[in-house]
Amino acid sequence: MQYADDTLIVCEAETTGVAALKEILHRFATVTGLTINFSKSSMVPINVGERETAEFQRILQFQKVEKFLPGWKAKLLNYAGRTVLVNAVLDSVPVYLMSVLDLPQGIIEKIEQRRRAFLWTGEDKVSGANCLVAWDNVCKSKEEGGLGLKKLRLRNKSLLLNWLHNLHQSDSPWADWVWKQLTNEAPCRSENLGNHWNSLAKLLPEYRNFTNSSVMDGRCTSFWFDKWLDHLPLAVKYKALLSHSTTKHTTVRQAIRLGPGQQLVHRLSSVAQAQLQELLQHLQTFQLREGADIRSHNLGKPETKLTTSQCYKSLQAGDKGPNYGFIWKNRAPPRVRFFTWLLSKDRLPTRNNLIVNKIVDSASCPICDSTWEDGDHLFLQCPFAVALWSALGFAPTTSSVRELHSISKPSGLIAREFKTFFILCFWRIWTHRNDVVFNKLQPCKKRLLQQCVQDVTL
Ligand SMILES: [Zn+2]
Repeated sequence: MQYADDTLIVCEAETTGVAALKEILHRFATVTGLTINFSKSSMVPINVGERETAEFQRILQFQKVEKFLPGWKAKLLNYAGRTVLVNAVLDSVPVYLMSVLDLPQGIIEKIEQRRRAFLWTGEDKVSGANCLVAWDNVCKSKEEGGLGLKKLRLRNKSLLLNWLHNLHQSDSPWADWVWKQLTNEAPCRSENLGNHWNSLAKLLPEYRNFTNSSVMDGRCTSFWFDKWLDHLPLAVKYKALLSHSTTKHTTVRQAIRLGPGQQLVHRLSSVAQAQLQELLQHLQTFQLREGADIRSHNLGKPETKLTTSQCYKSLQAGDKGPNYGFIWKNRAPPRVRFFTWLLSKDRLPTRNNLIVNKIVDSASCPICDSTWEDGDHLFLQCPFAVALWSALGFAPTTSSVRELHSISKPSGLIAREFKTFFILCFWRIWTHRNDVVFNKLQPCKKRLLQQCVQDVTL
């Protein structure tokens, strides 16, 4: 591939291929007299081990070896930082492919494994014990109690739905060409058009659910399955009649030209007969017109361009989680919000969670040593925490960290800031607890109180 005075050569990572490439470059230089400046060339090994890279470098004698995907120092980033990278970088790498291809399940799972490992450890691999929250829950929207990461399967599907929509746009010469060349006036037919079209055709029922067609020449509208005559597809309204149809995938154009009565088996049941009469009456005033069918969607505002995120939202069904506002609508730093998200699920590495994976022998509270350490105890019920809240003059009005949303605003704090206040105090209790466990400091209410007050004043 050449652009301006740069040349990009891609080859397989094997010694014979690389040696042949070097030989070709030499011969090219000998024949044309155009000498290649190897000191200005660079090699970019992708997914190649260090030993092979050194070997290729020896053959090619290029000056530079550049690593694909430079190290992000991922381990030094906190969870919130890695969440941003998963969203911004890892998610966009496969988007191009996912926009046109239905990725095989195996590949989706491999990519999901890498994303999961990166989020929880910053490395390539992860064990179950490192994953603090199930991936399905991580991939829910923040409103539903997740982190708002996208599920690749749904993202792939929503990109393809958008692609299908582009294919149904009357003003696209490309779509026009596809319909004419590939489908020969039968766009809704799903047989014998190859795997690629078949994988798209599987999405047609979902696509038709949220779109309507204003029929003009009727070429791109399915007679039975699209919504075009009414707010329901004819397949739903005239079920009995459809079961007598000989060409279920007919277009509106074909059906109207031939007459809907012509594409049916000879003997109709009485119900189907009645439905046919009703349909014919309905179609009496209908006429095909010049021009391409116009497709509209009902996701978001009408008349606006369909977006992939609208498709994604429509695919991702779920209820809003109650803690959304408390966790995400405040002024705490991102990593503290991430911590609160884990807290709201009681998935912090407290001893009740660690003992399950046999990481600790005892689950007793490291602060008071009296009982089982879980989120509810450490942050709300531990005598140490109770004393702290009373010294601060405010106490969270809940006995469970899973119900942060039920913490009411204490008088004396401004409405806008009270969530930030409680979240920062929870965070301080957590860092204080870690100081006791890992840095062998003594529990100290005075120190903790000072830190809390300092945060609030800031
Ligand atoms: Zn305790």
